[in-house]
Amino acid sequence: MSGSPHYDAVVIGGGFYGARLALLLRRRGERVLLVEREAALLARASLRNQARVHNGYHYPRSILTSLRSRLNYARFLGEYAECVDRSFAHYYAIARGTSKVTASQFAEFCRRIDAPLSPAPDHVVALFDPARIEAVFLVDECAFDAVKLRDRVARELVDAGVEIAVNTSVDRGSRIVDHGPSAVDEVRLTLSTGGEHRVVSAELVLNCTYSGVNRLLASVGASTIPMKHELTEMALVVPPAELEGAAVTVMDGPFFSLMPYPSRGLFTLSHVRYTPHCSWEESDRAHEAIDRPQATRFSHMVHDAQRYLPSMRAARYVDSIWETKTVMPRSEQDDSRPILFRRSAEVPELITVLGAKIDSVYDVEEALVAELSASRLTPLAS
Ligand SMILES: Cc1cc2nc3c(=O)[nH]c(=O)nc-3n(C[C@H](O)[C@H](O)[C@H](O)COP(=O)(O)OP(=O)(O)OC[C@H]3O[C@@H](n4cnc5c(N)ncnc54)[C@H](O)[C@@H]3O)c2cc1C
Repeated sequence: MSGSPHYDAVVIGGGFYGARLALLLRRRGERVLLVEREAALLARASLRNQARVHNGYHYPRSILTSLRSRLNYARFLGEYAECVDRSFAHYYAIARGTSKVTASQFAEFCRRIDAPLSPAPDHVVALFDPARIEAVFLVDECAFDAVKLRDRVARELVDAGVEIAVNTSVDRGSRIVDHGPSAVDEVRLTLSTGGEHRVVSAELVLNCTYSGVNRLLASVGASTIPMKHELTEMALVVPPAELEGAAVTVMDGPFFSLMPYPSRGLFTLSHVRYTPHCSWEESDRAHEAIDRPQATRFSHMVHDAQRYLPSMRAARYVDSIWETKTVMPRSEQDDSRPILFRRSAEVPELITVLGAKIDSVYDVEEALVAELSASRLTPLAS
């Protein structure tokens, strides 16, 4: 063992995933350090997103993802009831002609995944252009408040005794092989806080850095994983009066969504065509792009949206949320949202995770528990 402070586990990245996994490990009796580069937990993708708690409707082309979403939706609402906003009606509108599903296919898909669906009331249908929208459905899908979620998980982490280091990044690491009788290998990590460096070691390291996973893998000498990154913009808007109390998602293709963003009391306007500003596959640009000033594409988004929903012309722009979105290339082809859970071949004490949705954390947790139970590297108490 090295002389540096030693933890059973170091979790790198204090988004929702890192926070939940740190809590899981701590509750199994481990000594855990959670390291976050930003000044607060849940400050990046876990905050800067569309806030949709997916209930399956969004994935008519991936039945498996839809069914998992249905299960995780119930679980998330059960666990985080005080962190979700259910005060609005959510309408899914099916575009005519250009959508990848028809209205009847969408209705059949919802029946198959047993997701509640009913025709939208006439006064809502009348808001849409019938030449472009085939049908409008009322669905059961809510939004989460990321600030309430942050407060809740931060409290739980402190109560459980997880050590938290914010304003701290992990910049390098190396594997230390123990040739002694105990033969417990570990990873030594260099942590930087405001220019000060310190070294810690752990027998298990979780890489929960989302758009930074490959940068971290490279910094410890591990192979990287093919990923695609997008610089994304969602406009924060005040919706038109006609749409008060409603969220709208137009399916299935290059359309838009208008979703409540509870932590700011506003709505996000996102558009499949205009929200991604640029994309790249090499890992090292992930954190550079977001720092570059960009011109908003709100006017493009709202111009297109009003072709389907004319009242959108009165949506008032307030601000934009920018974030790097990271997806696995497979998701691009079939619209699935698989989780990534991978132990490094070169540094077996390091596990990288990535989930495409906030609720997929439950799938990652299951994978971690199974891995720990099966692994002789981390003989944890159950
Ligand atoms: C535009 C957009 C819209 C989305 N919409 C939705 C949606 O509507 N519904 C949904 O369920 N999901 C949505 N998602 C996906 C969801 O946001 C992510 O799946 C989820 O937030 C990932 O959580 P995380 O903890 O892995 O990542 P993050 O919250 O990004 O956490 C990773 C953390 O790691 C930290 N970090 C990185 N590198 C280092 C380092 N070297 N040292 C220390 N710390 C480091 C970062 O600062 C960050 O806080 C959306 C994502 C984006 C980008």
